[in-house]
Amino acid sequence: MSVTVETAARNTPAAVIVAIDGPSGTGKSSTSKAVAAKLGLSYLDTGAQYRAITWWMISNGVDVQDAAAVANASAKPAIVSGTDPAAPTITVDGADASGPIRTQEVTAKVSAVSAVAEVRARITELQREIAAAAEGGIVVEGRDIGTTVLPDADLKVFLTASPEARAARRSGELKGSQASGLAATRDALVKRDAADSSRKTSPLAKADDAVEVDTTELTLQQVIECVVTLVEEKRAAR
Ligand code: C5P
Repeated sequence: MSVTVETAARNTPAAVIVAIDGPSGTGKSSTSKAVAAKLGLSYLDTGAQYRAITWWMISNGVDVQDAAAVANASAKPAIVSGTDPAAPTITVDGADASGPIRTQEVTAKVSAVSAVAEVRARITELQREIAAAAEGGIVVEGRDIGTTVLPDADLKVFLTASPEARAARRSGELKGSQASGLAATRDALVKRDAADSSRKTSPLAKADDAVEVDTTELTLQQVIECVVTLVEEKRAAR
Protein backbone atom coordinates (compact mmCIF):
# COMPACT_ATOMS: atom_id res chain seq x y z
CA MET A 1 0.00 0.00 0.00
CA SER A 2 1.43 3.40 -0.87
CA VAL A 3 0.38 7.03 -0.96
CA THR A 4 0.88 8.26 -4.49
CA VAL A 5 0.73 11.63 -6.16
CA GLU A 6 -2.01 10.12 -8.29
CA THR A 7 -4.33 9.57 -5.31
CA ALA A 8 -3.40 12.92 -3.80
CA ALA A 9 -4.56 14.61 -7.00
CA ARG A 10 -8.09 13.23 -6.64
CA ASN A 11 -9.19 16.01 -4.28
CA THR A 12 -11.12 18.66 -6.21
CA PRO A 13 -9.84 22.25 -5.99
CA ALA A 14 -12.80 23.19 -3.78
CA ALA A 15 -12.12 20.31 -1.39
CA VAL A 16 -11.29 21.37 2.11
CA ILE A 17 -9.23 19.29 4.52
CA VAL A 18 -10.02 19.89 8.19
CA ALA A 19 -7.90 18.41 11.00
CA ILE A 20 -9.50 18.26 14.45
CA ASP A 21 -7.21 17.13 17.26
CA GLY A 22 -7.38 17.06 21.03
CA PRO A 23 -7.59 14.77 24.06
CA SER A 24 -10.51 12.45 24.88
CA GLY A 25 -13.81 13.90 25.99
CA THR A 26 -13.44 17.30 24.31
CA GLY A 27 -16.32 16.60 21.93
CA LYS A 28 -14.06 15.83 18.96
CA SER A 29 -16.16 13.03 17.47
CA SER A 30 -19.55 14.70 17.85
CA THR A 31 -18.17 17.99 16.54
CA SER A 32 -16.28 16.44 13.61
CA LYS A 33 -19.25 14.35 12.47
CA ALA A 34 -21.66 17.28 12.69
CA VAL A 35 -19.32 19.69 10.88
CA ALA A 36 -18.72 17.16 8.10
CA ALA A 37 -22.46 16.48 7.72
CA LYS A 38 -23.31 20.17 7.68
CA LEU A 39 -20.68 21.03 5.06
CA GLY A 40 -21.06 17.92 2.89
CA LEU A 41 -17.60 16.59 3.73
CA SER A 42 -16.40 13.05 4.42
CA TYR A 43 -15.43 12.12 7.97
CA LEU A 44 -12.66 9.96 9.40
CA ASP A 45 -12.38 8.84 13.04
CA THR A 46 -8.69 7.93 13.37
CA GLY A 47 -9.14 6.82 16.99
CA ALA A 48 -11.44 4.08 15.68
CA GLN A 49 -8.60 2.83 13.47
CA TYR A 50 -6.19 2.59 16.43
CA ARG A 51 -8.92 0.89 18.44
CA ALA A 52 -9.54 -1.55 15.56
CA ILE A 53 -5.90 -2.62 15.34
CA THR A 54 -5.85 -2.96 19.15
CA TRP A 55 -8.95 -5.17 19.04
CA TRP A 56 -7.27 -7.35 16.40
CA MET A 57 -4.12 -7.70 18.56
CA ILE A 58 -6.22 -8.75 21.58
CA SER A 59 -8.34 -11.16 19.52
CA ASN A 60 -5.25 -12.76 18.02
CA GLY A 61 -3.41 -13.27 21.29
CA VAL A 62 -0.74 -10.60 20.76
CA ASP A 63 0.59 -9.20 24.07
CA VAL A 64 0.01 -5.45 23.66
CA GLN A 65 2.83 -4.66 26.11
CA ASP A 66 5.28 -6.46 23.80
CA ALA A 67 6.11 -3.68 21.32
CA ALA A 68 8.12 -5.99 19.07
CA ALA A 69 5.23 -8.46 18.80
CA VAL A 70 2.79 -5.63 18.06
CA ALA A 71 5.18 -4.21 15.43
CA ASN A 72 5.54 -7.64 13.77
CA ALA A 73 1.78 -8.10 13.54
CA SER A 74 0.93 -4.52 12.58
CA ALA A 75 0.60 -5.16 8.83
CA LYS A 76 -1.71 -8.17 9.23
CA PRO A 77 -5.23 -6.79 9.87
CA ALA A 78 -7.16 -5.25 6.98
CA ILE A 79 -8.79 -2.13 8.41
CA VAL A 80 -11.43 -0.37 6.32
CA SER A 81 -13.18 2.87 7.36
CA GLY A 82 -16.46 4.12 5.88
CA THR A 83 -16.41 7.92 5.77
CA ASP A 84 -20.09 8.93 5.63
CA PRO A 85 -20.52 11.23 8.68
CA ALA A 86 -24.15 10.07 9.02
CA ALA A 87 -23.09 6.43 9.35
CA PRO A 88 -19.34 5.94 9.79
CA THR A 89 -18.23 2.30 9.70
CA ILE A 90 -15.12 0.32 10.55
CA THR A 91 -14.32 -3.27 9.65
CA VAL A 92 -11.38 -5.51 10.48
CA ASP A 93 -10.74 -8.37 8.07
CA GLY A 94 -14.25 -7.78 6.75
CA ALA A 95 -16.00 -8.01 10.16
CA ASP A 96 -17.88 -5.08 11.68
CA ALA A 97 -15.71 -3.78 14.54
CA SER A 98 -17.79 -0.79 15.60
CA GLY A 99 -19.06 -2.45 18.81
CA PRO A 100 -15.96 -4.36 19.98
CA ILE A 101 -13.62 -1.36 19.61
CA ARG A 102 -15.56 0.54 22.33
CA THR A 103 -15.02 -1.97 25.15
CA GLN A 104 -13.14 -0.99 28.29
CA GLU A 105 -10.46 -3.55 27.47
CA VAL A 106 -9.69 -1.91 24.12
CA THR A 107 -9.82 1.57 25.67
CA ALA A 108 -7.33 0.50 28.35
CA LYS A 109 -4.92 -1.04 25.82
CA VAL A 110 -5.11 1.29 22.82
CA SER A 111 -2.45 3.75 24.03
CA ALA A 112 0.18 0.98 24.24
CA VAL A 113 -0.60 -0.22 20.71
CA SER A 114 -0.80 3.27 19.21
CA ALA A 115 2.62 4.15 20.64
CA VAL A 116 4.33 1.54 18.43
CA ALA A 117 6.03 3.27 15.49
CA GLU A 118 5.15 0.52 12.98
CA VAL A 119 1.48 0.77 13.92
CA ARG A 120 1.54 4.55 13.46
CA ALA A 121 3.29 4.29 10.09
CA ARG A 122 0.71 1.79 8.85
CA ILE A 123 -2.32 3.71 10.11
CA THR A 124 -0.95 7.10 9.01
CA GLU A 125 -0.56 5.77 5.46
CA LEU A 126 -4.18 4.56 5.49
CA GLN A 127 -5.34 7.95 6.78
CA ARG A 128 -3.50 9.86 4.05
CA GLU A 129 -4.95 7.60 1.37
CA ILE A 130 -8.47 8.12 2.68
CA ALA A 131 -8.02 11.92 2.87
CA ALA A 132 -6.58 12.05 -0.64
CA ALA A 133 -9.48 10.03 -2.03
CA ALA A 134 -12.19 12.19 -0.41
CA GLU A 135 -13.15 14.20 -3.45
CA GLY A 136 -15.24 16.87 -1.77
CA GLY A 137 -12.95 17.20 1.25
CA ILE A 138 -12.89 15.61 4.67
CA VAL A 139 -12.89 16.22 8.41
CA VAL A 140 -10.26 14.03 10.08
CA GLU A 141 -10.24 13.78 13.86
CA GLY A 142 -7.46 12.43 16.07
CA ARG A 143 -4.39 13.33 18.08
CA ASP A 144 -1.68 13.99 15.47
CA ILE A 145 -3.61 14.95 12.35
CA GLY A 146 -2.50 18.60 12.21
CA THR A 147 1.07 17.87 13.28
CA THR A 148 1.91 14.66 11.38
CA VAL A 149 -0.79 13.05 9.25
CA LEU A 150 -2.02 16.10 7.30
CA PRO A 151 0.36 18.97 8.07
CA ASP A 152 -0.96 20.87 5.03
CA ALA A 153 -4.62 20.71 6.15
CA ASP A 154 -6.61 23.84 5.21
CA LEU A 155 -7.83 24.24 8.77
CA LYS A 156 -6.47 22.81 12.01
CA VAL A 157 -8.51 22.92 15.19
CA PHE A 158 -7.30 21.80 18.62
CA LEU A 159 -10.12 21.15 21.08
CA THR A 160 -9.47 21.28 24.83
CA ALA A 161 -11.61 21.14 28.00
CA SER A 162 -10.97 20.77 31.72
CA PRO A 163 -10.43 17.17 32.92
CA GLU A 164 -13.64 17.46 34.97
CA ALA A 165 -15.75 18.48 31.96
CA ARG A 166 -14.19 15.75 29.84
CA ALA A 167 -14.82 13.07 32.46
CA ALA A 168 -18.44 14.18 32.87
CA ARG A 169 -19.01 13.97 29.10
CA ARG A 170 -17.33 10.58 28.78
CA SER A 171 -19.32 9.17 31.75
CA GLY A 172 -22.50 10.30 30.05
CA GLU A 173 -21.53 8.37 26.90
CA LEU A 174 -20.80 5.08 28.69
CA LYS A 175 -23.75 2.82 29.34
CA GLY A 176 -24.60 0.02 31.77
CA SER A 177 -21.66 -2.22 32.66
CA GLN A 178 -19.25 0.22 30.97
CA ALA A 179 -20.15 3.03 33.34
CA SER A 180 -17.79 3.63 36.24
CA GLY A 181 -17.60 6.45 38.77
CA LEU A 182 -16.77 9.97 37.63
CA ALA A 183 -13.46 9.93 39.51
CA ALA A 184 -12.44 6.63 37.91
CA THR A 185 -13.39 7.94 34.45
CA ARG A 186 -11.40 11.10 35.07
CA ASP A 187 -8.35 9.12 36.23
CA ALA A 188 -8.52 6.80 33.19
CA LEU A 189 -8.80 9.79 30.83
CA VAL A 190 -5.89 11.64 32.41
CA LYS A 191 -3.78 8.46 32.29
CA ARG A 192 -4.57 7.84 28.61
CA ASP A 193 -3.86 11.48 27.67
CA ALA A 194 -0.54 11.36 29.54
CA ALA A 195 0.44 8.21 27.61
CA ASP A 196 -0.71 9.71 24.28
CA SER A 197 1.11 13.01 24.95
CA SER A 198 4.39 11.50 26.10
CA ARG A 199 4.94 8.82 23.46
CA LYS A 200 7.95 9.28 21.16
CA THR A 201 6.21 8.91 17.79
CA SER A 202 3.78 11.69 16.86
CA PRO A 203 2.33 12.42 20.30
CA LEU A 204 -0.93 14.22 21.01
CA ALA A 205 0.04 17.84 20.35
CA LYS A 206 -1.35 21.12 19.10
CA ALA A 207 0.09 22.19 15.74
CA ASP A 208 1.61 25.69 15.81
CA ASP A 209 -0.94 26.89 13.26
CA ALA A 210 -3.99 25.24 14.89
CA VAL A 211 -6.87 27.27 16.31
CA GLU A 212 -7.38 26.24 19.94
CA VAL A 213 -10.97 26.06 21.14
CA ASP A 214 -11.60 25.52 24.87
CA THR A 215 -14.96 23.73 25.00
CA THR A 216 -15.31 23.62 28.81
CA GLU A 217 -18.03 26.27 28.94
CA LEU A 218 -19.49 25.68 25.48
CA THR A 219 -22.41 23.52 24.37
CA LEU A 220 -21.82 21.02 21.58
CA GLN A 221 -23.90 23.23 19.28
CA GLN A 222 -21.68 26.22 20.01
CA VAL A 223 -18.51 24.23 19.25
CA ILE A 224 -20.01 22.97 15.98
CA GLU A 225 -20.98 26.51 14.94
CA CYS A 226 -17.54 27.79 15.83
CA VAL A 227 -15.78 25.17 13.66
CA VAL A 228 -18.25 25.59 10.76
CA THR A 229 -17.53 29.34 10.81
CA LEU A 230 -13.78 28.69 10.78
CA VAL A 231 -14.13 26.37 7.75
CA GLU A 232 -16.33 28.87 5.91
CA GLU A 233 -13.81 31.64 6.58
CA LYS A 234 -11.03 29.48 5.14
CA ARG A 235 -13.10 28.65 2.06
CA ALA A 236 -13.99 32.32 1.51
CA ALA A 237 -10.33 33.32 1.77
CA ARG A 238 -9.30 31.00 -1.09
O1 C5P B 1 -10.31 9.17 19.95
P1 C5P B 1 -10.27 7.87 20.73
O2 C5P B 1 -10.42 8.05 22.19
O3 C5P B 1 -11.17 6.84 20.17
O4 C5P B 1 -8.77 7.34 20.47
C1 C5P B 1 -8.33 6.14 21.04
C2 C5P B 1 -6.83 6.13 21.14
O5 C5P B 1 -6.25 6.04 19.84
C3 C5P B 1 -6.16 7.33 21.77
O6 C5P B 1 -6.15 7.27 23.18
C4 C5P B 1 -4.75 7.25 21.21
O7 C5P B 1 -3.96 6.31 21.93
C5 C5P B 1 -4.99 6.68 19.82
N1 C5P B 1 -4.98 7.69 18.79
C6 C5P B 1 -3.76 8.11 18.32
N2 C5P B 1 -3.69 8.98 17.28
C7 C5P B 1 -4.81 9.43 16.68
C8 C5P B 1 -6.07 9.04 17.16
C9 C5P B 1 -6.13 8.17 18.24
O8 C5P B 1 -2.73 7.71 18.84
N3 C5P B 1 -4.71 10.24 15.63
